[in-house]
Amino acid sequence: MESPPLSLSQLATQHDYDPDSMPVEQARQLIRHFLHPLTEQETIPLHEALNRTLASDVASPMNVPPHDNSAMDGYAVRFVDLTDGAVQLRVIGSSYAGHPYAGHVTTGECIRIMTGALIPDGCDSVVMQEHVKVEGALVEIRNSHRPGQNVRHAGEDMQQGATVLARGQLIRPAEMGLLASLGFGEIAVYRKLKVAIFSTGDELQQPGAPLASGQIYDSNRYTLMGMLRELDADILDLGNIRDDRDSIKKSLLQAAAQADVIITSGGVSVGEADYIKQLLAEIGEVVFWKLAMKPGRPLAYGKIGACHFFGLPGNPVAVMVTFQQFVRDALRILMGQAIKPALTFKAICRSRLKKSPGRTEFQRGILSRDDSGELVVHSIGNQGSGILSSMSKANCFIVLPMAQGNVEIGDSVEVQPF
Ligand code: AMP
Ligand code: MG
Repeated sequence: MESPPLSLSQLATQHDYDPDSMPVEQARQLIRHFLHPLTEQETIPLHEALNRTLASDVASPMNVPPHDNSAMDGYAVRFVDLTDGAVQLRVIGSSYAGHPYAGHVTTGECIRIMTGALIPDGCDSVVMQEHVKVEGALVEIRNSHRPGQNVRHAGEDMQQGATVLARGQLIRPAEMGLLASLGFGEIAVYRKLKVAIFSTGDELQQPGAPLASGQIYDSNRYTLMGMLRELDADILDLGNIRDDRDSIKKSLLQAAAQADVIITSGGVSVGEADYIKQLLAEIGEVVFWKLAMKPGRPLAYGKIGACHFFGLPGNPVAVMVTFQQFVRDALRILMGQAIKPALTFKAICRSRLKKSPGRTEFQRGILSRDDSGELVVHSIGNQGSGILSSMSKANCFIVLPMAQGNVEIGDSVEVQPF
């Protein structure tokens, strides 16, 4: 499955390698050649496992549920006792969740039973309490019934020995519960991925401090932190760095010595491009791409020693789009996760969209259902790559493929919900 790593010179000789306008999907595939998942693992308490990645397959050590139990409040019976007409059975005991009935049930007898309680020995079916008439110690059962009704069988959720989760599975709330239901108090996961981040730009100021003339607040580092926290990465925050060769070099070297991945923003567009490129070439290896996409045309990928480097553009929307379209899956692969392509579907576009053929665009949209229940999407308006409020207003990308031109109202478009 895994391809051998390509060297940059091999990469450059591939006939369709166009570093000035690389299609999005090709860039994704190429990055993948360089990604080798973490192998180090650690065993952690289950309650700390949310958002971590399973380091081995999990086989069920037991049946879940462990015993046959009742799906209803009612009476546990022997099905053979139920005739077509009415029958009266004697209630000889009870079985509550956590308090099973210890004895054996024979002809003409039944047991009061609650949801989740063990099916008593001798019984095979449960009659809902709504379907019986209680007369002292007797219950009268009419209606027609099925053998085995209202019984949850041992192992019907998970069978002992069966593989229930695969290595590489992201642990979400459902997996937390599933692992708990199998009795795992701790679990083997891959270690956290360490990601160093810094912003570049002489114009950047820390939020919380006053702005001098010509300054703007460094927002990219905060969107990056948010997106990295969602992935449960270990973040090494190196702050914002001046547009100064030596400072950037120092930060890159410091980050490479401590982190698995470095993500920066800014300093990769025209004019500054060669700058990062030169530095990377000097201390590492650089795959520098101009992608056929908008926003996010300039995206640098390279390596400094074993450390991966993603140089994202400076424009705030481009940072989010390139992270979500390239970096996130790359990080998940490094974390050992099995990744699936993002879910997209068709919606009717209710706005006119300007689009030039020759690049993939990720426009920001608001997806909803109209009065007739049809999925429709509206543009958020200004699609400028500096308009960060568009990412907050939007709830989806409208993904417009390379060949697509302008979109007219009523056209069908592909959307990718956030
Ligand atoms: P650059 O790629 O460095 O030329 O930056 C492109 C645009 O993004 C410029 O308008 C920058 O001021 C802006 N920008 C760069 N870095 C940041 C940042 N960390 N936060 C907000 N805006 C930024
Ligand atoms: Mg800059």
